Amino acid sequence: MASSRARVIVLNSALGPLDYRVPAGMTVAPGSIVVAPLGPRQMLGVVWEEDRLPGETVGDNRLRNLIAVADAPPVPLPLRRLIEWTADYYVAPLASVLRMALASTAALAGDRTIIEYRATGLVPDRLTPQREQALARIGVRQGTIRELAAMAETSDAVLRGLVKAGALEPVEAMADRPLPVPDPAFGPPRLSAEQQAAADAITAAVDARAFAPFLLDGVTGSGKTETYFEGVAAAIAAGRQTLVLLPEIALTEPFLKRFEARFGCAPVAWHSDLRATQRRRAWRAIASGDALVTVGARSALFLPYRDLALIVVDEAHETSFKQEEGVHYHARDVAVMRGRFQGCPVVLASATPAIETRVQVAMGRYTELKLPGRYGPAELPSIEAVDLIATPPDRGRWLAPQLVKAIDATLERGEQALLFLNRRGYAPLTLCRTCGHRFQCPNCTAWMVEHRLIARLTCHHCGHTIKSPDHCPECETEDSLVACGPGVERIADEARALWPEARTAIVTSDTLWSPARAAEFVARMEAGAIDIVIGTQLVTKGYHFPNLTLVGVVDADLGLSGGDLRAAERTFQQIMQVAGRAGRGEKPGHVLIQTTQPGAAVMQALVNGDADGFYTAETDARREAGVPPFGRYAAIIVSSEDKGAAEATADALARSAPRGDDLHIYGPAPAPLAMLRGRHRMRLLAHAPRSAPLQDAIRDWLASVEWSAKVRVAVDVDPYSFV
Ligand code: ADP
Ligand code: ZN
Repeated sequence: MASSRARVIVLNSALGPLDYRVPAGMTVAPGSIVVAPLGPRQMLGVVWEEDRLPGETVGDNRLRNLIAVADAPPVPLPLRRLIEWTADYYVAPLASVLRMALASTAALAGDRTIIEYRATGLVPDRLTPQREQALARIGVRQGTIRELAAMAETSDAVLRGLVKAGALEPVEAMADRPLPVPDPAFGPPRLSAEQQAAADAITAAVDARAFAPFLLDGVTGSGKTETYFEGVAAAIAAGRQTLVLLPEIALTEPFLKRFEARFGCAPVAWHSDLRATQRRRAWRAIASGDALVTVGARSALFLPYRDLALIVVDEAHETSFKQEEGVHYHARDVAVMRGRFQGCPVVLASATPAIETRVQVAMGRYTELKLPGRYGPAELPSIEAVDLIATPPDRGRWLAPQLVKAIDATLERGEQALLFLNRRGYAPLTLCRTCGHRFQCPNCTAWMVEHRLIARLTCHHCGHTIKSPDHCPECETEDSLVACGPGVERIADEARALWPEARTAIVTSDTLWSPARAAEFVARMEAGAIDIVIGTQLVTKGYHFPNLTLVGVVDADLGLSGGDLRAAERTFQQIMQVAGRAGRGEKPGHVLIQTTQPGAAVMQALVNGDADGFYTAETDARREAGVPPFGRYAAIIVSSEDKGAAEATADALARSAPRGDDLHIYGPAPAPLAMLRGRHRMRLLAHAPRSAPLQDAIRDWLASVEWSAKVRVAVDVDPYSFV
């Protein structure tokens, strides 16, 4: 459709769609990625269907010429519809959503060559052990200095030295070398009857090329991954694309290994830690259709897949799929919408599906595929509560006698134990015994968390860090500071004091910050070089260690405080997931959960294995209260460095709040996190039945109020965080 003018969404969230002239010789169509003039600057944008973007039409004589069309495929139609839907549902600017689709500007510059290096066969005169090792590890492979350094596990400097010495030579290569093609027949498993039935349903849906949402519901260790891999195999066999979403980058590493074992090569990975060159290559391969399988974090959802045949959301219940900054979207829900626009099946895999998802199944909208038991000889672990009131730990300790005994026995049998506590660092609060002073973050409503391993106090919200003090800044008393409460480091200290012979490992985002560190941890666990793991939620999912037979939950009550509507559900899911790490091999697993409320419904459900009863009660309570998924919330968060400005805007919003029979606006009230990164925060909460047009009401409402540039107003539809 050649036309002399085009409506363009430019990547500037403050601007609506703009009209441009298409100069002679240039052809654009909806989806074309273009460079447009904006004042004195140039701006990326995408041509959109004019009739879908009402705007005021500018006279031809006032139009400016588009500058160029990017050397990249246009944004495909299903993705354009998804971008519109996301902007509309989450009350976000189109440009903010579009930016996620154009996540690599380098990718838009077309084909490019880069310089790579390979061995010449020449042995350098000065052959240091490092150089020798590097040449041995690189062998006949070719890559950039960076890539070769990673292969050789040496520094860039060593490689540069080898180039100088003539042992490595530069070669020109395409920046986007072809990707290895996964082989569906490389290592197929023999599926159990239940697995096969579920796999057949998924592959049939892939072949049918139509939207079909599934819940793949199977206990931990039931083989959900092996099962949905059959759907991936069907897509690969058809030469079509699959997207697998994982909740955390840390899970990518074990996933890549399993994928390679099944399909013979790694898939394309997409996450925030990619270097610009990797990002560019991945984006182009995804857009051209060459990347048959992409595994990524939630942002992979908005990439321009040419021919998507299947979407999998693994660990679909995870709340980290909810984006809490910028566009506040939920990747699980957007994934389902993407499948709808794309016309392809979507598989949500989980051992502990969210109530939202269960309700969709109950309404007949999603098809449930059930894997009832663990694969092979493995049994689900037994779960027992430890009453912290009746049988408390010794003074100054955190592990109750019953748990200590269980660890004794586990170590004696030569098996591994995992202690789970979802708190990084040594202690969550430091206070002065003399004057009561507490160390608080100057930028946030939060205590400074002690990290003893690095001798620092850190705020987990903004990263503000100080050296661990030796005296109280308030009363100046020395040696008067005490650590209150445990973090994983403190539990590790206790474990080392109790079992000095045992080898311990702390697993948190502080210690496992990279895929390489995660791989190293897995290798040490598999080699039996670790006896006790002390970890946060980072160890609760994905890992498969057959010799890990005991799990101790140090503080099962931790997630229950705070009054969040999903607190009980989240506690249940988290403990079921961490329990799922125990007894995955032939040896039976055992789980002890330390709690002060052994009688609470969620603890009883865990101990009695009564997931259904727990979910039924929770679902009924939600229906009764009209809260999600039966009603809808949207939070409005007003923030500013100027407290008065935040309050004034929140008050102004409250005064012009829409009123209706089914629409209720609560607040404003200071947010529980009343200050975050130096900004004062106020919250309002809108509540409406699902049938009410809540987003439209919010758009009209926000448009009717003005606020100063010092104030930010964020909308969070379907909020998961209430702080
Ligand atoms: P889930 O994702 O449901 O927790 P996994 O897919 O991780 O379960 O499977 C648990 C373990 O059982 C893994 O080591 C997996 O390789 C193995 N497994 C599952 N199904 C099969 C099968 N059909 N054949 C061989 N191994 C299997
Ligand atoms: Zn802070």
